[in-house]
Amino acid sequence: MTQSSTQSHIKHIGVLNFQGAVSEHITMLNSIDNIQATLVQKPEHLTKLNGLIIPGGESTTISRLIKQNGLVAPIKQFAKQGKGVLGTCAGLVLCGQTTTHNEVELLGLIDICIERNGFGRQVNSFETNLDIPPIGQQIPAVFIRAPYIATAGKGIEQLAFVDQHCIMAQQNNILVCAFHPELTTDNRIMHYFVDRC
Ligand code: GLN
Repeated sequence: MTQSSTQSHIKHIGVLNFQGAVSEHITMLNSIDNIQATLVQKPEHLTKLNGLIIPGGESTTISRLIKQNGLVAPIKQFAKQGKGVLGTCAGLVLCGQTTTHNEVELLGLIDICIERNGFGRQVNSFETNLDIPPIGQQIPAVFIRAPYIATAGKGIEQLAFVDQHCIMAQQNNILVCAFHPELTTDNRIMHYFVDRC
């Protein structure tokens, strides 16, 4: 196989690099063949990407930095082009349409309303195993000050629940989860995401 045909198989996935669990996503991306992981801080970093991950952390802080760095419109445009976006925990909050208390400015990439910190504070953090029908069974998931999806619009596929609260959903190219798959060693969710990018 020639060098160029090898490279054409490579997918470029960016991780928004402002705050939160960035390096863990990079490590997990690097565990998958034919993925080139990069850091995103400026609009021009989106140009060559097939997919973008918005990590967990603190959604108010990440939202402010997205705005300060002129990334609101470019990320919306990126999603509109059908490129893959994965939002984890605070990233799920940012991908949403509204929050129950309207305290964070969101990107509105997926038609969901979010209850921030829906499972309580840091001390209420927990780990569990999830069955996520299109992905697999017994997938470990770490919840840290996790949100849940309070309501979802038509056309949203609700993929997993904890205590009857939806904690994972997708709409076309946008995939969101309320937990941190990157804090485990199980990369099935990441595989599912990059396969769709
Ligand atoms: N509760 C945080 C927020 O709303 C998210 C926590 C996390 O990403 N682990 O920003």
